[in-house]
Amino acid sequence: MLDRDVNLDVVPICAMSDNYIWALCNPRDDSVFIVDPGDASPVLEWLTKTQHTLAGILITHHHYDHVAGVEQLLAHTMVPVYGPKQSPATCITEPLLEGICIILHGLECLIIEVPGHTLDHIAYYVKTPAPQAPILFSGDTLFAGGCGRLFEGTAEQMHDSLNKLAALPEKTRIYCGHEYTLANLRFALAAEPNNAELKQRLENDTKARADNRPTLPSTIALEKRTNPFLRTQVASVAAKLTTETGHEDRMSVDIFSMLRDWKDRF
Ligand SMILES: [Zn+2]
Repeated sequence: MLDRDVNLDVVPICAMSDNYIWALCNPRDDSVFIVDPGDASPVLEWLTKTQHTLAGILITHHHYDHVAGVEQLLAHTMVPVYGPKQSPATCITEPLLEGICIILHGLECLIIEVPGHTLDHIAYYVKTPAPQAPILFSGDTLFAGGCGRLFEGTAEQMHDSLNKLAALPEKTRIYCGHEYTLANLRFALAAEPNNAELKQRLENDTKARADNRPTLPSTIALEKRTNPFLRTQVASVAAKLTTETGHEDRMSVDIFSMLRDWKDRF
């Protein structure tokens, strides 16, 4: 049954040094879906403190810091564990493929396959009723100001995956797996020294971190204006890459690949 009036909350649970475990809460009944629990302890503490009931677990990809807490959470409450079908993660009970819709808190959530960081990576896109902005759990694919490293996939796969996410509605709220924003934006500024909005964003987010606030959520619109990995078609980004690397590639995917290499060395 779809629910047109529900207004979901997304709450960060901080884990390890820089992971975000996201809690997708329904204020009506205190049920919650937990995204990428790499550690069970902070989740269990949060559930007790806030009196939420675990309804299910969403996994974006198989990395340890995103799944290691699942077993211990299931020991407390048996709930479905959603995740990619082709995954080395053995904890998944509800395997998902591109284009499948699951229902979370009465809302449709679309599964988007986004290989690149890992081959099994998926993103969850929750279609909220207007005027609420849609919600995207992007895991380690699209970060605020950056993108995940290529551990398993190719640059072409990651480039395609990012393009899929960039095509989502502009106001979509992005909740990614790590607080990497400041480091990402410093690199972004090296790639685009004349992007005024990017400078302003780094200033705002530096202040947020100094106040111990998350820099998330971001939005698709903001990423398209300030994240160099979504701006490989912009002439100034291509020109900067030519200066940095000496290569004169003009294909968006080649520029993406050089940008990713440069960030790995940055
Ligand atoms: Zn990862």
